Formats: sequence, structure tokens, C-alpha cells
Amino acid sequence: MRVIPLGGLGEIGRNMTVFEHKGKLLIVDCGVLFPEETQPGVNVILPDFSYIRGRMQDVVAVVLTHGHEDHIGGVPYLLRERADIPVVGSELTLAFVSAKLEEHRITPKLQQVKEGQRRSFGPFDLEFLAVNHSIPDGLAVAIRTEAGLVLATGDFKMDQFPLDNRLTDLPGFARLGEEGVDLFMTDSTNAEVPGFTMTEEDIRPAIDSVFRTAPRRIIVSSFASHVHRIQQVIDASARHNRKVAFVGRSMVRNMAIAEKLGFLHVPKGLIVDVKALERMKDSQVTMICTGSQGEPMAALSRMANREHTIKIGEGDTVLLASSLIPGNENSIYRVINGLTRWGANVVHKGNAKVHVSGHASAGELVYCYNLVKPKNVMPIHGEWRHLKANAELAIRTGVPEAQVLVVEDGVVVDLVDGVAKIVGRVQAEIVLVDGMTVGGVASEEALADRVQLSNDGAVTILGILDTRTGALVEPVEFIARGFVQDNAWIQGATKSIDDALRAANKVKIVDGPELEELFTQSVTRWMQRKYRRIPVITSVVVDA
Ligand SMILES: [Zn+2]
Repeated sequence: MRVIPLGGLGEIGRNMTVFEHKGKLLIVDCGVLFPEETQPGVNVILPDFSYIRGRMQDVVAVVLTHGHEDHIGGVPYLLRERADIPVVGSELTLAFVSAKLEEHRITPKLQQVKEGQRRSFGPFDLEFLAVNHSIPDGLAVAIRTEAGLVLATGDFKMDQFPLDNRLTDLPGFARLGEEGVDLFMTDSTNAEVPGFTMTEEDIRPAIDSVFRTAPRRIIVSSFASHVHRIQQVIDASARHNRKVAFVGRSMVRNMAIAEKLGFLHVPKGLIVDVKALERMKDSQVTMICTGSQGEPMAALSRMANREHTIKIGEGDTVLLASSLIPGNENSIYRVINGLTRWGANVVHKGNAKVHVSGHASAGELVYCYNLVKPKNVMPIHGEWRHLKANAELAIRTGVPEAQVLVVEDGVVVDLVDGVAKIVGRVQAEIVLVDGMTVGGVASEEALADRVQLSNDGAVTILGILDTRTGALVEPVEFIARGFVQDNAWIQGATKSIDDALRAANKVKIVDGPELEELFTQSVTRWMQRKYRRIPVITSVVVDA
């Protein structure tokens, strides 16, 4: 059996692993990664499908472990390549992914499964096990083939007092351990955190205290998929006589799904439309919105910038009931500062116990290694430091160091006779989705242009050419955007253009496109010598 992680190893997000056996492919998870500030204009980042692109007909199924964006967000793009790949997952996961696919106008071929079930797809015999995470209905997947048994946990933790009483199936892990797990792929996100992750129940007092003391409106921000946390907010609102409105499309959509399927329990009459809140006293209002990671387009960021219809004011309380994903720090603190400036009291994990992680800490991981007793280990879901920390835990429990494979996206691992080995590497670039286009290299160039444009601006050089004489009819014009031209610059640039024209006349270039190229080169070269910063320079030469 061949195992190829195409995303999620060396980064937090866009999780995707391909399993290959007897010429058939099984995909586990297909998520997105959200862009950083250095990637302006990018909507999401996908795993690289190049390796499987020519072999879409060999894909027997895509299994989704749970409904988080970093595990399901890439499915619409995968199904664009082949629409009838069976999509396998639990009830809630499939409900979230189908709502997403509907927006992309794709009708998927769904296969609902639940914990305890076994299903075969081509040469892969799959068994699903319950895992506890920050979203309900998560599954680990055991993959049996003639080449061995793999257990992939997906995202998980071992909360012993979960709100939905659905525990991670440790007896199942132990039973598979007895059978003999050849390769154990475990969630590394919290491998650096010692001890055990606190239970969701532990944050109830902190949330309650916010509700007890808030003088006016409470605005809660969370992931649109964090059903357990939102349940806590709904329960607290009911206890403190507040009505609740969901704000934002994804929040409204997902919570309606979760409630309909029985994963979210809402007292009758508690949820109201956001418009109805206007007629209520501020002290009877809770709003739940997205934007806990400082995403610029989400409701909370827009509230912080006063661009949202909901105007934050003195006495409002904002509760960020979520994690702080590495890389989002600046954006989140910008939002917190914005909200504070308008008078809000912002409660977040930095100043109150209002969040617990959805991922297993070191203590839980060690516990699992001792239960499963794997022959080989591949840490998944994490940046390098997380993968490495997870690997060290496995080694401490006695897995031989040579059998613990710390690998990044694109590394090919073969499992032969119970031994996992790195055998090569396939293409696993970052793939940017930008508006409606899904691109590879061209998008990265566009991104470099965007960064240059935002740092240094742009200058357009406009010339009118007499094609008979090869001379310019008028002096060139410089049109600048986001770049400050002074007289010295205009003189220097004009001289560079004159030099370029003289050179062109010598070799008898009277062709517009060639002159454009020469002008751009000449001004760029001059600026490289004289200035540190260079704007994006474009030349346009038209015939007189
Ligand atoms: Zn997750």
C-alpha cells in the first residue's frame, strides 16, 4: 500500500491523504487552507491534485473524517474534476458538505456511514470509529487491505465529558491494536501541549459569568461549524433570558442543518431573526456570528471596522469563543482593538477560560500509542514543530525511531510487509483559488505582482509612435498609482526613455510591442540602480 499526503503536513489546513493499492486510489479528507496577509486576493488554498489528475477514474471514494473546512473545503474542486466520486462520511459531515456543494451547483454521490460500520471500496475495507472533536459526528477510519491495516484518527481528542456523550472509541482503538495496526496516522495539532485537553464542560462557568455580568448586548464569535460551543452559548442565553440570532450566511445555514439533524438543541422560541432584536432590550440579546479568526470579510471584522449594520457600542460584550490559529494573530488583535475602541468589552481565551481545544494534547496521544501499539507511525495535521513533537511522543512509547516517519506534503511512503518506508516524492505545490479561477504557477506570479503593487504601486508609461520615422510624436507620459513621482524621478525616467529610444533607432526598432518592452526594461534598470523600491512598470506604445 502506498500512502501520499498531499496536504496538511507541514501546515495547519488543506488536509488530504491518498492511499493507493492494487491500482486503486482512496482519498481521506480534502480540505482548504486559508490565506495569510502575504497572499492578497486569494480566497482559499487547495491541495495539489496533480498526482491524481490523470487517474480520477481509479479513485474509489473520498472519505471525510469530519465537517471542518480544512477537511471538506476542497471537495467541490475535487468533484469538478470528476463529479461521481463517492463521498463518504457521517450524517453531519455529509450535510455540511452537501450544502457547500449545492452552492457550487454540484450534486454529489453521497454514502452515509456511522461509527461501528464497515464498508468496502475497491480493495479498501473501511471501518469507522467515533472520535470526539470540536465538531460533532467525527470519525476515525481504519483501512484494511491485503498490505496491512492503517488507522487514521482525523482530528480528535479524548474529552471524557463531551456535551453529546459521544466518546472517542478507545475500546475500538485497543481492539485494532490487538489485531495489529501497521500504520497509525495521528493528529499532531496539540502534540506540543503537555497533559490532557480540558473538557468542553470546563468552560461553562466562564461563559456563564460573561452572561451574568454583561450589561448590554452579547456578540459571540465562533466557527460556523463549532456546534458544541454554540450549544453552550444557546444554553447560557436560555438561562439568562436572552434571545439568540445567528448572523452571517454560513452560520445561519450550518446551525439550521445541525438543529434539523438533532446535533444542536434549541429551546422553542429562543432563536429569532436578527431584525427582531432591534425591538428588544439590549440586555435580552445574544448574537452569534463568524469571524473569530479576524477574517476580513467575516461579520466580526466588519463590525470592528464599522462596516456592518450591527454597530458595536459602549457596554456591548464581545465573546471570542474560539481558538487562535497560528498565523492569524495580527488579524485577531486588530479586530479586538477595533471592537474595544468602539466601547466593547472583549472576552477571549487570553483573558478568560472561554475556549478549550478540539485536539488531543500530548497525554492523550501517548495514551493512544500505548493502546494501539502501532508498528509504524506517521504524524499528520500540523506544522513541522507539531509533527516532530508528535513523533517524539511515539518514540517515547517504544515505537522504533526508524518506524516513525516525519514527512511533508508530497512524500511517498510505501507500506510493505509491515514496514513503512519513504520511497520518493510527488508534486505537492500550493494551489491558489482566486475568485473563480483555480490556478497553479500563474497565480503565484500574480500574487508576487499583487504584493509588489501593494508595497510599491504602479507606473504606466504611455508613448505615441510615428511608425514612419520611429520617433515619438510627443514626450512620453507617466501615469502613477500608489507611487509618488517627484521632479527628479520624472527627469530620470524621461532620460531612461530617451536612452531606450536612441538604442531602438540604432537597430531600427519601430515596432510598438518591442518598444514597450525596451521602455519597461530601461526604466526598471535605472530604478534598480537608483532606488530601493520599484513599482510595477507597464509600457503602452500606440501608433499615431
Ligand atoms: Zn477539525
